[in-house]
Amino acid sequence: AKMMGIRLGYLEAAMPALHKILIVGGGTAGWLTANYLARTLQIASGRSLSVELVESSDIGILGVGEGTFPSIRGTLSAIGLDEARFVREANATFKQGIRFDHWLKAPDGTGSHHYFHPFSLPSQRERDLELLPYWLLGAAGDGVAFAEAATMQKHVADRSRAPKRATDADYQGRLNYAYHFDAARFAALLARHGRDLGVQHRIATVDEVELDEHGAIACVRTREAGALTADLYVDCTGFRAALIGGALGSKFRSAKDVLFVDRALAIQVPYASADAPIPSYTISTAHEAGWTWDIGLQARRGVGYVYSSAHTDDARAEQVLRSHIGATADGLAARQLRFEAGHRPEQWLRNCVAVGLSAGFVEPLESTGIGLIEMAAYLIAHLLPLDGDMTRVARHFNTLMTRRYERIFDFIKMHYCLSRRTDSAFWADNADPRSIPDALRDQLAMWRSRPPHRLDFVTDVEMFLPASWQFILYGMEYPTDLQPAYALYPHYERARAEFAMIRSLAPRAAADLPDHRALVEHLCARD
Ligand code: FAD
Repeated sequence: AKMMGIRLGYLEAAMPALHKILIVGGGTAGWLTANYLARTLQIASGRSLSVELVESSDIGILGVGEGTFPSIRGTLSAIGLDEARFVREANATFKQGIRFDHWLKAPDGTGSHHYFHPFSLPSQRERDLELLPYWLLGAAGDGVAFAEAATMQKHVADRSRAPKRATDADYQGRLNYAYHFDAARFAALLARHGRDLGVQHRIATVDEVELDEHGAIACVRTREAGALTADLYVDCTGFRAALIGGALGSKFRSAKDVLFVDRALAIQVPYASADAPIPSYTISTAHEAGWTWDIGLQARRGVGYVYSSAHTDDARAEQVLRSHIGATADGLAARQLRFEAGHRPEQWLRNCVAVGLSAGFVEPLESTGIGLIEMAAYLIAHLLPLDGDMTRVARHFNTLMTRRYERIFDFIKMHYCLSRRTDSAFWADNADPRSIPDALRDQLAMWRSRPPHRLDFVTDVEMFLPASWQFILYGMEYPTDLQPAYALYPHYERARAEFAMIRSLAPRAAADLPDHRALVEHLCARD
């Protein structure tokens, strides 16, 4: 949150080369970037820098993307939205993590497997004591998952409790959290807020992008408003990538040889009753050719099947989705979305920078789309070229974003390649070593004899902290054998006491926190 909250108003005097930023596209990427730049550059206070957003009324926004990552709290706070208004107007609920069902093994007669990825970090009450090695050595007892031994979050969330109390400050919780929300409402809220922050908003469709003699953008020609010019163009046109790809020719690098899923079918499902409990985590269930998300919003669930078209067909995918949801899906329409995992290594090219789907997309697992938008907006605000020289800034931006994408590809791939499912070609192909990036293969090999350590990660380019890697790795029962290194870990008894303490505090934490639906309704009713 602190990182996102910078103020750059002082740049005005030092920035003679940059007067206007034009954002093309009014989806989550366009509006989040507009809000962030407007607020951090303080354009509303009469600065000479202006931010304009142009969007087409003919081309809709994607309107999916209901899951977020905890970084969103820092961003919403940085753009000056209060939390109750956000919850009310975006129909938001709280998200404390993700439960993964059947990812390790297909369900059979002997039961099913699930594990949890909590947003809270392993307990750090004992500052110098890292719990993971002791969990591996058995200090938490047999059969207790790492995520459940090291944090109280699953205990709390399983009891339909919220991660915070109504009296806690905006964006502060007892446990770490993000949100689920209605993507279309969120974009509309950001549009209202962005206009209040001084973003100029224009409805027009860009038909043509004109380049100057250096190959930079000279102007964009719109059907309704003629030519629009700027010093920096931000391409938020979604998968069309009209500026960065269409006009400037920045190439897309596919990651589909690593991440196979490329389609989704989504259904909006009503709750059984108006007071049904709202789960405060995403439920991700593995299936024969992909996985389903199940997200609880205020008035409905969003459920979707993400699958690989090389491993199944659309009709079968719809069958899988409908049988997963059950009779409540009868008569409800499914919407299909197509995508391809990958990114543009050159996201900033000359005077154009791409944010959102125009820059790249991983896949819906672990909700990285909006997190990548936040990082790009933050970097643009931070790196704005004071001297008008875009080349150096572009190189730095592209290096940081590309590394970030690559690390996310590895992290997501880890969810699939550790599976022991053999029930379909999809899972067998995912475990094929040729589909696993070298860096991930090396790390997995190291983690056979020692657990992931902070120093295995380059913090500034990671979206996921080491704890997230640990929760997935050991949720998937990765066999790290620490016994030979037993002597390196002398605090076994202290760790055992700490695990016991977490276990005993968890019921108290759950009792102290409000019911999830009750908190959401309370915030919606607040002025
Ligand atoms: P869009 O929403 O497509 O917006 C494009 C904008 O550009 C529109 O306003 C359009 O009018 C405008 N435009 C296009 N061409 C022109 C033109 N020529 N002239 C003028 N305007 C133009 N992300 C998450 O964080 N969490 C999730 O859980 C998640 N789930 C997803 C599930 C699926 C199946 C998919 C496909 C994506 C998911 N994402 C998720 C990603 C998320 O949806 C996107 O990151 C987010 O919606 C941002 O989209 P966007 O703004 O880049 O593009």
